[in-house]
Amino acid sequence: MVSERATRVKPSPTLAMDTKAKEMKSQGIDVISFGVGEPDFDTPDNIKEAAIKAIRDGHTKYTPVGGIPQLKDAIAEKLRKDNGLSYEKEEIIVSCGAKHSLYNIAQALLSPGDEVVIPSPYWVSYPAQVLLNDATPVFVKTREEDGFMLNPDELREHITERTKAIILNYPSNPTGLGYDRSTLEAIADVAVKSNICIISDEIYEKLLYDGTEHISIASLSEEVRACTIVVNGLSKSHAMTGWRIGYAAGPEDVVKAMTKIQSQSTSNPTSIAQWAAVEALKGPQDFISIMVREFDIRRRFLVEALNNIEGIRCGLPTGAFYVFPKVSEIFGRGYKGRIIEDSSALALYFLEEAGVALVPGSAFGAEGYIRISYATSMENIRKAVERIGEAIEKLS
Ligand SMILES: *Cc1c(COP(=O)(O)O)cnc(C)c1O
Repeated sequence: MVSERATRVKPSPTLAMDTKAKEMKSQGIDVISFGVGEPDFDTPDNIKEAAIKAIRDGHTKYTPVGGIPQLKDAIAEKLRKDNGLSYEKEEIIVSCGAKHSLYNIAQALLSPGDEVVIPSPYWVSYPAQVLLNDATPVFVKTREEDGFMLNPDELREHITERTKAIILNYPSNPTGLGYDRSTLEAIADVAVKSNICIISDEIYEKLLYDGTEHISIASLSEEVRACTIVVNGLSKSHAMTGWRIGYAAGPEDVVKAMTKIQSQSTSNPTSIAQWAAVEALKGPQDFISIMVREFDIRRRFLVEALNNIEGIRCGLPTGAFYVFPKVSEIFGRGYKGRIIEDSSALALYFLEEAGVALVPGSAFGAEGYIRISYATSMENIRKAVERIGEAIEKLS
């Protein structure tokens, strides 16, 4: 009964793993989730209070489709202050999460047959959203030795007359790594010269360690800004995943098209969540540094503990809340006649034998790796790493 379109994509593998882990938990099985893609911190109280106040003040009706002006102002101010970017309200749209902003972008930009360059490993929704919009994802592999940064020459080699856009995501989900200025400049140069758009997903911007600085690619020059759509949101920075507020800033014609599409699909994001987002952006920001400090402690502990396990090799990422260790050395080993041949088999083995849920690298287009999220308590991290170590020892 369903359309051809609906058969083009699979459900998000990261959410699927989470569902499976929750199922096992509900059956009373002890499962620790290393798979989560959201901060384990609660939304700060001042933000919750702003939402309660919005309800009491009667902000419970439709708002302008692309967001209330107060929130657009707060976003414009954030982009100016944090990223050195200047956008007018007409160049900003608020959506139901950054994922929705990205979907609107795909709808507004892509025609059948268009190609979108996606560096791999990639966030799972990029190829799915491109496919859902009748376009073709073109993957360009990146390497761990290069910090998983896209090589600008390889980008150039993959551009055809059908190429419409490239999607960048830094700090990256799943690798936790970012881009340095010179690589960003070289990538931007290729994009400008080839006349393609840059979609820059900067949702993990605030989660940075070791003094790493975030450079928004749109801030490199006026020329780059003109071909870039910046995507960001409050889910990760303010522990607001359930509130569904994300936004995009870019050329007015693109934002106008996105707003038109949004007006015919979801209409405005939840009015109450928008008022909460105003407080999140304009209120005290110390919550972020507290959260980052805690993530940093876990990150160091986790990377060291993983590197003490034979068969796992893990670099130290500089952002987000993921590590992306190499596990291919384990492939070919077995347990009770079962051979671990790839990252999905390994993830399943960890889930069933160790009670640890994590996501195989293959889900992100990077076989040989696994993604571990440290958005969980130190106690869980300790226990889960121990269990992983024991499960690997059982293999021969
Ligand atoms: C979490 C995430 C998003 C989506 O965030 P929402 O605002 O909750 O939709 C977008 N991009 C990446 C890379 C993410 O990890």
